Amino acid sequence: MRVLVVGAGYAGTTAAVRLAGRSGGRVEVTLVNPRAGFVNRLRLHQIAVGRPVAAPSLRELVGTGVTLVEGEVVALDPDAGRATVSGPDGVQDVAFDRVVLATGSTTTVPVPGAEHVHAVGDLESARRLRPALAAVSAGADITVVGGGFTGLETVAELAEARPDARVRLVAAGEVGGWFTPRGRDHVQRTLARLGVEAVGDTRVRAVTPDRLLLDDGGEVPSALTVWCGGFAAPLLARAAGIAVDDRGAGRTDASMRSLSHPAVMAVGDAGHAPAPDGGRYSMSCQYAFPSAAHAADLIRAEVLGLGSGGGLDLGFTARCVSLGSRHGVLQPTDKADVAQGRAVIGSGAVAAKWVQVRGVVAAIGLERRLPGAVRWPHAARGRRDAAAVAGSGT
Ligand SMILES: Cc1cc2nc3c(=O)[nH]c(=O)nc-3n(C[C@H](O)[C@H](O)[C@H](O)COP(=O)(O)OP(=O)(O)OC[C@H]3O[C@@H](n4cnc5c(N)ncnc54)[C@H](O)[C@@H]3O)c2cc1C
Repeated sequence: MRVLVVGAGYAGTTAAVRLAGRSGGRVEVTLVNPRAGFVNRLRLHQIAVGRPVAAPSLRELVGTGVTLVEGEVVALDPDAGRATVSGPDGVQDVAFDRVVLATGSTTTVPVPGAEHVHAVGDLESARRLRPALAAVSAGADITVVGGGFTGLETVAELAEARPDARVRLVAAGEVGGWFTPRGRDHVQRTLARLGVEAVGDTRVRAVTPDRLLLDDGGEVPSALTVWCGGFAAPLLARAAGIAVDDRGAGRTDASMRSLSHPAVMAVGDAGHAPAPDGGRYSMSCQYAFPSAAHAADLIRAEVLGLGSGGGLDLGFTARCVSLGSRHGVLQPTDKADVAQGRAVIGSGAVAAKWVQVRGVVAAIGLERRLPGAVRWPHAARGRRDAAAVAGSGT
């Protein structure tokens, strides 16, 4: 069986190495990615402020069992089993029997003025932000829009990098409101200590070159705006006629199989499988690793005649957010990803984040060396099935 994996982020590399390593040579795995280096996306906001971030070679990460093609899948014909790849070697067709969409997500700006904002959702955007940040004059206003994890991490990083600027966070809800009270208080206190003005319960309706226009008629000055207010999957799946949700992610059943095309699987940020509560799993490493590993296992089971396999059984355990280089929060969650219990703050949280950002890359290497090593906490069985619990706590 020829399996094409599109995108070599956490999900795509995991699916590729797991499948190649566990299918006894019965599957040819081709992995397509626009660049030869692995992007550890959890650290893009750090790239934006010029902190050194390693970019491991994808070739070394996935090993020789996977055919790596540098390029972008620019068109997909899921019925004919053909993808068009454009890369440094020109345009080529790649035939497949199954395709795993692991194209991740990028920043979306759903208000007028998108041309005036910066972002940290992909490597190119993070690299563009770096000189723009350096060019902002002392005392100027810098605004991060979006109070989710990426917004919190980004605003703290920018405030630490530019203590001479007026850094602000604009969020639709309460800043840090997702956490339990101890975590929330720590988020608010730490941002205040870093000099961040946190503006909660505020929606932006448009962005201009030097300000944000708010829903309530107000305005916020902003010489540099960084949008962390939403992410969506690339257009590839939608353009191919594959069933997608309103954020462009492939709609799948609990087995990661497309609702419209059985030969297509969609994982990580690019996939929308039904979560137990009826919604979708959050765009996160906690979902990227298990969904990809599960998809690989189902293809393997099909090839080896081991049955059709079941749906993904995934329970969340915790989330970890960094607040600059010296602070963070490790927040336990219930299995449905809702914050609960006592948040860990201080050096424990900073250490957990350190382990997380390195652990996600290490987990891929471990999966290549020990196929099947990536496991995850289960929801239904209510136990922690942990060997290398990749993504756990991210
Ligand atoms: C700054 C930042 C901080 C974050 N922090 C956290 C965190 O602390 N914890 C957490 O759980 N999550 C965090 N996230 C979210 C997390 O990064 C994503 O959920 C995760 O990257 C999803 O993994 P993925 O493999 O699905 O996609 P990605 O990691 O985005 O990888 C997708 C890959 O597909 C490639 N690709 C896209 N289109 C094509 C195409 N047409 N052809 C070929 N290749 C293609 C991309 O170039 C990329 O290499 C953060 C995100 C950001 C931006």
